[in-house]
Amino acid sequence: MEHLKPIAHILIFPLPIQGAVNSMLKLAELILLASDAQIHITFLTTEHVHSRLMLHANAASRFESYPGFSLRTFSDGLPEDHPRGSDKFGEMVDAVESVSCPLLREMLVTDRANPPQEKPITCIIPDGSYNFALDVGKEVGIPVIYFDTISPSCLWVYLCLPKLIEDGEVPFQENWEMEAIVGVPGIGSLLRRRDFPDFCRANNPASDVMIQRISEQAKQFRKASGFILNTFEDLEAPLLSYMRSHFPNMYVVGPLHLHLKERMLRKETTTSTTLLSYCSNSLWHEDKSCIEWLDGQPLRSVIFCSFGSHVCLTKEQLMEFWQGLVNSGTRFLWIRRQRSVTGMDDDVHKWQEQIPSGLLKGMKENGYVTSWAPQEDVLSHPSIGGFLTHSGWNSTLESIVEGKPMLCWPYYVDQLVISRYVSHVWKVGLDMKDICDRDIIENMVRDLMDRRRGEYSQNVNALAYLARQSVHEDGSSYCSLNKLVDDIMSLKLPA
Ligand code: UDP
Repeated sequence: MEHLKPIAHILIFPLPIQGAVNSMLKLAELILLASDAQIHITFLTTEHVHSRLMLHANAASRFESYPGFSLRTFSDGLPEDHPRGSDKFGEMVDAVESVSCPLLREMLVTDRANPPQEKPITCIIPDGSYNFALDVGKEVGIPVIYFDTISPSCLWVYLCLPKLIEDGEVPFQENWEMEAIVGVPGIGSLLRRRDFPDFCRANNPASDVMIQRISEQAKQFRKASGFILNTFEDLEAPLLSYMRSHFPNMYVVGPLHLHLKERMLRKETTTSTTLLSYCSNSLWHEDKSCIEWLDGQPLRSVIFCSFGSHVCLTKEQLMEFWQGLVNSGTRFLWIRRQRSVTGMDDDVHKWQEQIPSGLLKGMKENGYVTSWAPQEDVLSHPSIGGFLTHSGWNSTLESIVEGKPMLCWPYYVDQLVISRYVSHVWKVGLDMKDICDRDIIENMVRDLMDRRRGEYSQNVNALAYLARQSVHEDGSSYCSLNKLVDDIMSLKLPA
């Protein structure tokens, strides 16, 4: 690609976790493609994420073909073996914020004072949870467009949190879990207390860190120049139109992974074969041998089981899942990420010794266990008939795009809202919520893969079709991305 003088220069700054880094890298590549290299991008991330991307993903070689793309890193100050996820997630975010807030300010101020060869930064796209980024942007007069990579339905709940607290609906105690929360405008009584993130059960909102952080986020979003959502209009039309009446400058550009494939295919050099695994942004080594195992399985016979990059199970929960799956007689591909099961060894020989022999036999007959897979390729495989998921937003969109019904076991934050949408709005699967019982798992797996398969498949295929339409030329997401690029290039966004 020719190195044109850029018209604009964006600083993209994701949360240093798999889902957010993946989404933001895809957004970066989409902007580079759609702007025909007239926008330059600096991607700011931690050394920890950077080293894993270099080791396990093809991000570096991919971005080499974009002269306007550069990576910049900083240390999060945490020890190398810090888990940076699950119950230590808050610790990681605090560490990142304490280092990156002054760094961001210094970068932008220095950039202005001594303009580099490249165009100085003209727009910041930070993760929606970086509340400080808006203040820094205002201080240096650079517009901020937030990109919250969580689901729009949960983001909307977050944005309504100050109102819910004012109305006395939040916080609530851990009883009356089935009672509806009616104060989130635009969604009626869809969500029950049970579908709300855990922190809504805090006794004192004034002292709860998460509630304070999200209430602040709701204020910052109102002052930003706009925000980006990874979804498509037809998936959440009523909600999006409601949100738009409060936040007019919304860019709805997803599903990002599908959108990127579509734009890549428009380049003459790309074919659908070269696209397989092309966009890997994995922070773990992808075991491709599971695809060979899938090749040998019957059509739509396998349930793919993965709980994303943060969820940690207890050994007891893992046993319930495996026993339920084996009892259902369904073939399964299980992702067992390193350090994702408390009380159980990661070494394959050692964990096999820790489970009953009858269960191990059933697993060897019907199951395949690996530590990390090329998930988009797995979900698109014809042998996959369903997805047992923690309802992370990326996983949910990837499943919808491939027309695969879901069995949801949400773990925290937006996953609890998403699983409710899966079962009650889109009707593309079942919501187990916090239940983890072998008989229920067996029963629900049979429902998903057999008894209710026709109904769910029909619904999810209809959504998959609409997703594809949205990223075609003149589709809603395609046009919205073009508008985002035009707005950033026109430099007329208010700071
Ligand atoms: N993923 C993957 N291989 C795996 C498991 C997950 O590539 O074996 C990817 C998946 O495709 C998704 C991301 O990791 O893009 C997980 O993001 P999600 O938002 O679903 O969940 P999170 O990890 O943030 O909880």
